[in-house]
Amino acid sequence: MDKEVFQYFALEAKRQNEGLELIASENYPSIDVMASCGSIMMAKYAEGYPGKRYYGGCVNVDAVENLAIERAKKLFECKYANVQPHSGSQANFAAYKALLNPGDKVLALTLNDGGHLTHGSPVSFSSHDYEFAFYPLGEDGHLDYEIIARRMEEERPNLLLAGYSAYPYEIDFKRMREIVDAYNQRHNANCHFMVDMAHIAGIIAAKLTQNPCKYADIVTSTTHKTLRGPRGGLILSDDEELGKKINSAIFPYSQGGPLEHIIAAKAVCFGEALQPSFRKYMEKVLENTKACNDALAEKGASVSGTDNHLFLINVLSSFGLNGKEAQQRLEDIGITTNKNMIHGDTLKPAYCSGLRIGLAAATSRGCSKEDAKKIGYLIYDCLANPNFDIEEGKRRVATIISRWKDVTSLQYC
Ligand SMILES: *Cc1c(COP(=O)(O)O)cnc(C)c1O
Repeated sequence: MDKEVFQYFALEAKRQNEGLELIASENYPSIDVMASCGSIMMAKYAEGYPGKRYYGGCVNVDAVENLAIERAKKLFECKYANVQPHSGSQANFAAYKALLNPGDKVLALTLNDGGHLTHGSPVSFSSHDYEFAFYPLGEDGHLDYEIIARRMEEERPNLLLAGYSAYPYEIDFKRMREIVDAYNQRHNANCHFMVDMAHIAGIIAAKLTQNPCKYADIVTSTTHKTLRGPRGGLILSDDEELGKKINSAIFPYSQGGPLEHIIAAKAVCFGEALQPSFRKYMEKVLENTKACNDALAEKGASVSGTDNHLFLINVLSSFGLNGKEAQQRLEDIGITTNKNMIHGDTLKPAYCSGLRIGLAAATSRGCSKEDAKKIGYLIYDCLANPNFDIEEGKRRVATIISRWKDVTSLQYC
């Protein structure tokens, strides 16, 4: 009935279908996940946890939340899961609360090198409630575990934090656990290790990289990035005692009633990710990301290379553009990306020298390796040529996506 609101659903579907989405944190969920988000499960208050609710009538939401929990534990091979966080940031809020006292020190990646706002940004609660110190990437833009070990000694943190928003390479979680264990032994200390796997949760679910649940005290995540679920958060641990603290840090400490329709969608998402076809999907994401990166490199652009679903282009050194300009040029021809700071960036965050490119969303719509290469060439042509014809760019986008699937009715991969 509400045409005023509903008109925008059609317009947004059109925008998504006609555009080429390369923002690394975006993805498209299956129609089953979307249907769950719009389901009747939303019309139920269920403060508390399955079997221990503050309201009656929770028999069905209990069953669904238990399914989500059991599937999450199976998918990530751990003993405890909390599926109630409304977002990745809420998950981090609760994880810090469970592991730290106010004023405790966290050692995290320098924000300009790819950390998240909740990893100690001055505009986030994190830097107000806790003290943050940082470790930089090594000179080559990769994690340098010796620097991390040295920064541990210098800063004496209560928590080491790993997991990033714009890091294109493999992370050695095992090595970081060993650094924390050696530090704790040497100083008779109790430093914890936490991993925020928001970006790479899908790659971990597909078992194509190390599983941080084996090494971290707490693992937090979003469910809507590479994992292809509904917009939401997730907390995992292998320590059931810690699980009790996490539960009370979510409810009642920081959230009220859980979003049971979103939890239902998370259950569907975890069920999908447990299928063998999810691994095939994730393999394609990695292959496509590499193909796109390599196509740009072949033309002579300065790109990061990649082990995962994203890579970075140094648009300043490659094209003499700042990230803001490059983002706008691509947007003009229907390609959505985001500007990003790169290691050793000399420009302000409002401009940046880099562009972050991700292929997870495109792959969900059916992007092939050939398409991924064409995308790389198109990005190059658009940014390298100051007189690039916008209409030609739009036509090339339309050709690339012409066989891709409709975003409003994606069957599970
Ligand atoms: C996206 C992201 C988050 C936050 O997720 P929201 O759901 O937007 O709050 C947290 N940590 C990392 C590393 C992320 O990339």
